[in-house]
Amino acid sequence: MAEPRPATTGSTAAPGRRSPLRPSRSTVVLMYHGFCTTRRADDPENLFVEVARLEEQLTWLLAHGWEALDLDGYRDVRAGRRSGHRTVLVTIDDGFDSVADLAAPVLHRLGVPAVLFVPSGLVGATATWLPEPASSPLLQPERLRGLPALGVEIGLHGRDHRDLRGIDPEELHRQTALARAELADFLGAPAARCVRSFAYPYGAHDRAARDAVAAAGFLEAFSVFDDAGPMAVSRVDVNATDTLRSFRVKLMPQYRRAWRALESAPALRRLVHKVSTRTPNRTPDGPPEAAPTAVPSEPPVAEAPVAEAPEQAASEPTPIRRPPRTGTAPTTTSATTSTHRTTTQRAAFASAPEPDPSTGTTPPADGRGPRG
Ligand SMILES: [Zn+2]
Repeated sequence: MAEPRPATTGSTAAPGRRSPLRPSRSTVVLMYHGFCTTRRADDPENLFVEVARLEEQLTWLLAHGWEALDLDGYRDVRAGRRSGHRTVLVTIDDGFDSVADLAAPVLHRLGVPAVLFVPSGLVGATATWLPEPASSPLLQPERLRGLPALGVEIGLHGRDHRDLRGIDPEELHRQTALARAELADFLGAPAARCVRSFAYPYGAHDRAARDAVAAAGFLEAFSVFDDAGPMAVSRVDVNATDTLRSFRVKLMPQYRRAWRALESAPALRRLVHKVSTRTPNRTPDGPPEAAPTAVPSEPPVAEAPVAEAPEQAASEPTPIRRPPRTGTAPTTTSATTSTHRTTTQRAAFASAPEPDPSTGTTPPADGRGPRG
């Protein structure tokens, strides 16, 4: 195995000194889920990316001057201690076995750090919230403990992958502070050192959830296409139907701007979504064509140039779409309770968007967002 490149570490800037770097050059935070060797036919939400595609995407980034940050490097960018120009942070949600089996060796070989978000109450269990592929195994504690040595830091993804919106304070505490301690126990190190960041299940959050995450001691938390400060940092979803071209376009600020612009034109947005989420045809030797995708695979800026990835936008992207809001708050703390929403349910919720008082934004009429 080739010697891995050294992972990017924190800045050497003097503490407390803010550089004049423009905060505009933010890091692009990528979101993956599971991985596979050949395209899965039982993956209607296109969560499992072929590991060859992952390697292709990361190799392209490194070959074109992008720098893959670890969490400390990401924090330096957020704090203005260094430029975020052409920087990415790789994040992976859920903790499927395939992260250790397939992705971690590639990440390590390429010297790309990553943060893996796992639900503490489901370590060693299965992805109970996911109806298909059903019973997908999640990493055992000993395998989680081995990932940091490969450059994969562990973060928290709630306790049982439930939607955190609208639940009572006691349950929020269980899903954040107590879950953090539980995950640290699995990892065998103090939480402040081994469980440093948070990602919302389904990317869903409200003010109470963000406050609970902050109170649990996290300095940042990640959502999906939805910025609300450091406790809800937007990420770009990378899914199984992404081509290298669509991946490259997703790095562009225009990609997020386009979704934002379409927010004010729900009918056009639905049309773009319908067209853009077609699963590409497979080669004759490939697996069968999958069902229509649940997350966008091709960007809504089809004619955008991709030969040279541009700098980041001049300003942080504003919220452009929000995950669907569940009709009723979950009431059980069982680790086997599924909070998964079907596409039909998402569409139903999407039909009645309501403003989020904490951000002043209204979810788009199409209501369908990538899952977290
Ligand atoms: Zn998740």
